[in-house]
Amino acid sequence: MTRRIVARRSPIHGNGVFAVEPLAKGEEVIQYKGKLLTNDEADELYGDGGETGHTFLFTLNDDYIIDANQNGNGARWINHSCEPNCRAVVEESPSGNPRRDKVKIETIRRIKPGEELTYDYGIVLEVPHTARLKKLWKCLCGSPKCTGTLLKSKTQHA
Ligand SMILES: [Zn+2]
Repeated sequence: MTRRIVARRSPIHGNGVFAVEPLAKGEEVIQYKGKLLTNDEADELYGDGGETGHTFLFTLNDDYIIDANQNGNGARWINHSCEPNCRAVVEESPSGNPRRDKVKIETIRRIKPGEELTYDYGIVLEVPHTARLKKLWKCLCGSPKCTGTLLKSKTQHA
């Protein structure tokens, strides 16, 4: 496999993932990998998200969460943006086994070399989104459409 994307420091937050060569619209760029946790296991390890603000957790389905802190790959460095150029797609396993579902990050428009890859995390916490939490999950994507936070309201789920 050719190295089409690379992780390095990002102006948005920490590390980011950048295109090395032109990417077409609708291309699968990377699978989001990590250890599978149940919701209970994730809660035990990381709490409800009210304390850290930044995790490498991806909700796979009703049963499992992918924990990219463990056995994660470069996909965990892809930042959130309010105006993303990628999206995360959950592929349900034909076997019907929720453990075998996969998350693929794919482009939603053409991306030029050097552009940072982003997708909308769409995070909804199980606790009320207080001003403190919004600040903790502050968004620095720089888009004119930026809502200022990574958190999505439960009522207006876009
Ligand atoms: Zn933003």
